Amino acid sequence: MGRLTEVAPGVLVATSTYAVTTSTVVVGAGGGCLLVDPAVTVADLAALADELAALGLRPAVAWSTHPHWDHVLWSAGLGDAPRYAAPAAVSLLQTEREAMLEQLGLSAPGHDLDLAGRARPLDEPVIPWDGPEARLVVHDGHAPGHGAVFLPDSGVLVAGDMCSDIEIPLLDTEAADPLGDYRVGVDRLASVPGVRQVVPGHGHVGDAAELRRRLALDTAYLDAVSAGRPHQDPRLTADSPAWMRTMHDNQVRYFKP
Ligand SMILES: [Zn+2]
Repeated sequence: MGRLTEVAPGVLVATSTYAVTTSTVVVGAGGGCLLVDPAVTVADLAALADELAALGLRPAVAWSTHPHWDHVLWSAGLGDAPRYAAPAAVSLLQTEREAMLEQLGLSAPGHDLDLAGRARPLDEPVIPWDGPEARLVVHDGHAPGHGAVFLPDSGVLVAGDMCSDIEIPLLDTEAADPLGDYRVGVDRLASVPGVRQVVPGHGHVGDAAELRRRLALDTAYLDAVSAGRPHQDPRLTADSPAWMRTMHDNQVRYFKP
């Protein structure tokens, strides 16, 4: 886990060496903080808990952007703050719990499985807490109940597994309309006013121009794949991880008439 870095006043991001995964901390009142998607390894979560303690912070509330194993983690060292996710995400965490835990065990062994995936449903426009306003932008692109968090005071958009500089759009091919769902997600994120920084779930923090570049790349990718056209996405290279090339091949196959 890289150390927490301030990306905007009161907003800190740590990046794991595992899949360049980000964890976001929003500083609130009286030493409380909002923790979004703490990840990934047991050592990462221990380092995060230590670093928060050293900064005099403790999680007051937590948010999981979506119901994939690497975004629903927790450790006893992070305390017992209420943890929330969008209702559709919580439903999937319940129905697919065994599969999620199996993937977690294979990819990041050693976590306390009782604490993984334990979010409560929150069907509200903002996260209830005593800190900077944290607006939710919920859609079903990438996964059901995918909730980005926008912080209007600092202009930071915590995008979850969207808006990445290193990953192509990853569609939820289990859904009835994966492409439509993803496009709705892109449109919702593109129409959030006042974004100055974007924090992707995997990848690097970018500014407003970089967010627009990523959303344009995503749209170009979706247009090409859905039309069955070959497409060179700069995020898909010979150095890309095998799983991403496989996902791309699956997405191409999915749309083949
Ligand atoms: Zn994901």
